[in-house]
Amino acid sequence: MAEPNLQVCPTRIDGSAVLFAHKVDRPRCQERQRQRYHKCFTCAWNNSYVAKHGEPAPAPVPGGAALGEPLPVS
Ligand code: SF4
Repeated sequence: MAEPNLQVCPTRIDGSAVLFAHKVDRPRCQERQRQRYHKCFTCAWNNSYVAKHGEPAPAPVPGGAALGEPLPVS
């Protein structure tokens, strides 16, 4: 499970697996959204999606990667 205040980036709205993901903290997530990071539009952490549906459940993080470190491909 992700550490508190860290989220898997991106977390797909439909729950599908992503090829490349890592963990980010909230300020980094907000910064990326302001910069229109291309993965944000289909992410469950997108502010627009969270406003309508609430925050996604914490996702398990394979391998316990550190902040900013790429997650292993499954
Ligand atoms: S909203 Fe964007 S920056 Fe935040 S977790 Fe999702 S993809 Fe990453």
